[in-house]
Amino acid sequence: MTEAPVPYPAEGADPSQYVRTREKGSRDVSYPDAPEPLAVPVYDNHAHLEIEDGVGLSLDEQLTRAGGAGVIGVVQAGGDIESSRWSAWAAASHPRVLAAVAIHPNEAPAYAAAGRLDEAIGVIDELAAQPRVRAIGETGLDFFRTDDDGRPAQFESFEAHIALANKHGIAMQIHDRDAHDAVLETLARVGAPERTVFHCFSGDADMARVAGERGYWLSFAGNVTFKNAQNLRDALAVIPRDRILVETDAPFLTPTPHRGRPNAPYLVPVTVRFMAAELGVDVDELCAQVAANTLEVYGAFED
Ligand SMILES: [Zn+2]
Ligand SMILES: [Zn+2]
Repeated sequence: MTEAPVPYPAEGADPSQYVRTREKGSRDVSYPDAPEPLAVPVYDNHAHLEIEDGVGLSLDEQLTRAGGAGVIGVVQAGGDIESSRWSAWAAASHPRVLAAVAIHPNEAPAYAAAGRLDEAIGVIDELAAQPRVRAIGETGLDFFRTDDDGRPAQFESFEAHIALANKHGIAMQIHDRDAHDAVLETLARVGAPERTVFHCFSGDADMARVAGERGYWLSFAGNVTFKNAQNLRDALAVIPRDRILVETDAPFLTPTPHRGRPNAPYLVPVTVRFMAAELGVDVDELCAQVAANTLEVYGAFED
């Protein structure tokens, strides 16, 4: 999630009607060709399917394409009140969707400035009680997009979200950008939820070792394929196999060779095949492991 804060939604608005559009700029916004389907199915552990990119696929089209590629479920992540409500609606409406709900660290300062952070966290608390909301996320710290003035609100929000994950006994998806030490310190100080996931892990091998020792999961996105991301491949090499997850962060972070074009869950095979090659393991074996890890963190998709 990298969009600007959106206005506070009207009470009673229909969450299914919520849509957000990604800036096109000069990018090629056509969807890449579908990869060869995976033989052993996996899940996309983190995506933003409410954000339209390129032609804009409906949720049903996204899930159909994903299923055809062997990606049989998606954890849909929210970042503000509206997208969190949409995420909970999508999960309640589709057996192949589970939801994560949160106020994103880059949105928390705007809510705080409007005097509405407590109210927003209250909405997340309510949504988190729904049976198909299986994670608090994405929450965390982002020192790249938020300057010093916004940090107190980020810390307040992150700590409140940790408490919510613990209260509801569900997983937590962390967004950590340029804030590795502060995130690790906060988790240790406040008490990390039993199932803590670093979405779009951006650290290195040393951080991956710490995460492994503490039992956190690392979720790898399409940027693990980027040429300049050796730190991510080093991290992948050291994190225990039972702590590896895969995600798209769609519509962002499209894997090589489709960088810049719209990303979608049906492109998970590109990333997971790359990861298997990097680890020197059989693709089917890695898929089976990653799928089992996903179910351990979020529980079953189908009731
Ligand atoms: Zn995200
Ligand atoms: Zn994120």
